[in-house]
Amino acid sequence: MSQTPQTLLINGEWRASVDGITQEVNNPANGTVIQTISQASTADVVAALEAADAAFPVWAGMSARDRARFMHDAMDIFRANLDAAARLLTLEHGKPLNDSIKECRYSADVIDFYAEEGRRIDGTHFAGDLGPTHSFVLRQPVGVVAAITPWNFPVDLLAWKLGPGLAAGCTFVIKPPSEAPLAATAFVRAFAEAGLPPGVLNVVTGPGGSVGAEMVTNPLSRKIAFTGSTATGLWIAEQAARQLKHVTLELGGSAPFVVCDDADLDAAVPDALRRAYSHTGQICISVNRIFVQRGVYEPFVERFTAAASKLRVTADGLAEPDADMGPMINAKAIDTVRQHVADALERGATVTTGGDSPTGPLYANGYFYLPTVLTGVHRDMRVMQEETFGPLAPIAVFDTLEEGVKMANDSPYGLAAYVYTADLDRAFYAAKHIRSGGVGININDITDMRGPFGGMKMSGTGRELGQPGMDSYMEFKHVRLRHRAPR
Ligand code: NDP
Repeated sequence: MSQTPQTLLINGEWRASVDGITQEVNNPANGTVIQTISQASTADVVAALEAADAAFPVWAGMSARDRARFMHDAMDIFRANLDAAARLLTLEHGKPLNDSIKECRYSADVIDFYAEEGRRIDGTHFAGDLGPTHSFVLRQPVGVVAAITPWNFPVDLLAWKLGPGLAAGCTFVIKPPSEAPLAATAFVRAFAEAGLPPGVLNVVTGPGGSVGAEMVTNPLSRKIAFTGSTATGLWIAEQAARQLKHVTLELGGSAPFVVCDDADLDAAVPDALRRAYSHTGQICISVNRIFVQRGVYEPFVERFTAAASKLRVTADGLAEPDADMGPMINAKAIDTVRQHVADALERGATVTTGGDSPTGPLYANGYFYLPTVLTGVHRDMRVMQEETFGPLAPIAVFDTLEEGVKMANDSPYGLAAYVYTADLDRAFYAAKHIRSGGVGININDITDMRGPFGGMKMSGTGRELGQPGMDSYMEFKHVRLRHRAPR
């Protein structure tokens, strides 16, 4: 590309960065350059924050009905171009096209959902306890939001922030991930084309260490909405605390999948498989550790291993839209998987399938790793304590459910957990005692836009989606009114 790309959105204008720096977006399946984009400088980030700050009274002052109209119009435009956005997502991330389409559709649904939730924002009122007073609790938008998102669900995780935030009346500066900024930018483009007032949404692409850091530390942002690694989340929490900014931090996970001996294996095996390997295991709610009760351990391992070895790994997610998984995102990600496998093998584990990259010319230039199963694992292995974020499923055995739950809780993380059983008492016991923000009972996904999503322990703080996801973009203001009998 000879011209400087204009991929920053600042105050309603698509621009190049002020110092003309660019960066490349690569296809992780084959290493080719998909597109060159602008890399924002600090001056660009500041301009974006100022634009969002100036637009705040305009957007917050609009009726919720008018805000909803912009949001619905934007999603009509996005849906009309959804196939193109999904193809970009497959190119930049590697996930098979059907997974990209699903992500884009869900993202649009989230925006539509919150557009209507915004129209239902209400407050409470009550007669005061001390004297003749009446109180109202108003809910008002927090201000400018810095939204920082990761590469694994770059559209979806942006929608989870924009939906409730825009509906509440907040304005945004968005930093998409460097590895996968294109589909997210296409998503924002739909809002711009819907005629959103300038400055309500701003996009600055570039490295987290400079662009993201300025968004976090600059006093103009009043809330940081972040999804990504625990290490970055901790840094953001420290910085935000210095200015008492609002934060929502959705961080890493190490989801346990607990299979009781009364579980329906016809459901448990494919459900565990999908949640362990879809998106190449690169989901914060991916199954990281499988615990199976002794009575069904052997048949589970046998069936799970057989099914994992048959999964289809594609080097071209556009040509094979229904493949099971694609490449990993980059060399660092694949290195973590290799290290976790090597560490487990050194400490006595066995690989029952996978354990290496696929061979052949199709896979030669990408970041591929086979769906891998480990048995003979124990708590001291890295794979049982750290987030692998790859296609690796260790399986351990337990005897009583109490022991299974204890093993599930033996992790610094607490985002998602899954329990498979036919017994209501066991299900309730596990749901109550597992320390995670979400528990799926006989279901391998804890996501529903009507329910809260977020982590305990090192998996984060705050909740997205549901009503708590909306509340986190609002301040609660207590208005206390003294009234007297009229004279
Ligand atoms: P990061 O936390 O580094 O990146 C997530 C986002 O934060 C990206 O947009 C990144 O920018 C940005 N960022 C990085 N540093 C800063 C900073 N100092 N201030 C503000 N923003 C910053 O995660 P990675 O992408 O490097 O992934 C590493 C690991 O994190 C994974 O292997 C996985 O364990 C975990 N992870 C968890 C996710 C989840 O869904 N909870 C999602 C992704 C990763 P940029 O990348 O452009 O530099």
